[in-house]
Amino acid sequence: MPAPNIDTIVSLAKRRGFVFPSSEIYGGLGSAWDYGPLGVELSNNIKQSWWRWLVYDRDDIEGLDSSIILNRLVWKYSGHETTFHDPLVDCRECKTRLRADKIEGKCTNCGSTNLTEPRNFNMMFRTILGAAAEEDDPAALAYLRPETAQGIFINFLNVQTAMRRKIPFGIAQIGKSFRNEITPGNFILRTREFEQMEMEYFVKPDAEHLKLVDEWVEQYLEWFKSLGISSENLHLHEVPAEELAHYSKRTVDIMYRYFPERAEEERQWEELMGIAYRTDFDLRSHSSKPADEEGKRLNSDSTEDLSYFDEATKQRFYPHVIEPAAGVNRTLLAVLMDAYSEKTNDKGEMRVILKLSPQLAPIKAAILPLAKNKPEIVGMAKAIKRSLQPVLRAVYDDTGGIGKLYARQDEIGTPMCVTVDHQSLEDEAVTVRDRDTWEQERVKVAELADYLQRRLKATAPAQPVAATTSLEI
Ligand code: ATP
Repeated sequence: MPAPNIDTIVSLAKRRGFVFPSSEIYGGLGSAWDYGPLGVELSNNIKQSWWRWLVYDRDDIEGLDSSIILNRLVWKYSGHETTFHDPLVDCRECKTRLRADKIEGKCTNCGSTNLTEPRNFNMMFRTILGAAAEEDDPAALAYLRPETAQGIFINFLNVQTAMRRKIPFGIAQIGKSFRNEITPGNFILRTREFEQMEMEYFVKPDAEHLKLVDEWVEQYLEWFKSLGISSENLHLHEVPAEELAHYSKRTVDIMYRYFPERAEEERQWEELMGIAYRTDFDLRSHSSKPADEEGKRLNSDSTEDLSYFDEATKQRFYPHVIEPAAGVNRTLLAVLMDAYSEKTNDKGEMRVILKLSPQLAPIKAAILPLAKNKPEIVGMAKAIKRSLQPVLRAVYDDTGGIGKLYARQDEIGTPMCVTVDHQSLEDEAVTVRDRDTWEQERVKVAELADYLQRRLKATAPAQPVAATTSLEI
């Protein structure tokens, strides 16, 4: 049973230190959220899983970390300055500002249909570079990136030549992006500052691009399942031609059921990620060579031609690109919603268990002393914590009775609790309790690290096989 709604997660996330409303002591900041001690671990674990899966397990993808602030010309030639906007309308009754394509002609605040005509609102955040620059100096204008992808395109040749790569290959990047969203909301689902995991996969111009989109969709579905997300809560949405971004010939969105409480099937889903066929649009438009029919350069600012020379065919071309673009925050929310479950104990009390996949759990094992006033027990528990730390993330906790401590670890998704009791002092053994079944087993301290690692592996959903795409490309 996943979480009944996002609000359940908002409250758990704050109570247990995953995500806090940002700037709360000053009344908050609309759509900004801070990741607490457990949230930062969960987020890091998601990013590590992604990086391992794409950059380490495969042999055809390199990593990159490009700047957030790029030369403004990047956004001119990528098309974002002229086309990266959402349709904005104002409600004439209650003055609420709304995104026209999300409201079906009706104000979501007061229900009125008395709305202004839609007008375009560019979502890029502006900033001014340099201490001496005037506020309105166009030469000093810069943007915070609205996607990480452009940092990859402008580095295509750097990576390809430095790493001596042949096509097909990909470049992966994780980082913050910024969009001045008209209507941010629904917790971390839509915020103005968020984190993306994007990958540009460069292929030949005559590759089977549309099929490659399907292949990447399949691979991502497997990856999401390996994070513990149930396939019942995932579905595919083929973006209609009239809604495609300016660079896309085909986009398939993987949707997650973020709103299970809503009645209509349609409105239960929101985009988790998108897989787009971006053609050669970006590499071509950042290149110095392409010219119009009269021979005039289309890009008069670039100093490089981002084309690729294929040794085998002796042909030069602009690689085409398949782009899977996923959000860290939306993945984290989907993971939390899917992991949420409730269980009644034998006293009839309801307990929350966060059934996080062991690879994502912020803490893998909690070491708990049965009696915190017994120095020998406390000493042994702390020594066990220290000995486990090099192999897995462990914590020591003695801030309550054992029942409370178990309940707290269940609620934050710790797969295993290790209890040190009076008997442990004699038999050098501890009790290991399983989060999901609440079953307990006695394990020798000397075998504990191996035992825990084995159990963590055994209960994790299978990692997808690192697949280098099999199609003719
Ligand atoms: P939407 O239609 O929901 O605004 P999009 O289609 O504009 O999203 P993309 O440009 O495809 O989003 O960005 C790739 C991914 O980045 C999204 O699938 C999502 O996971 C994440 N993302 C985009 N915008 C936001 C945002 N405002 N807040 C959080 N994550 C976001």
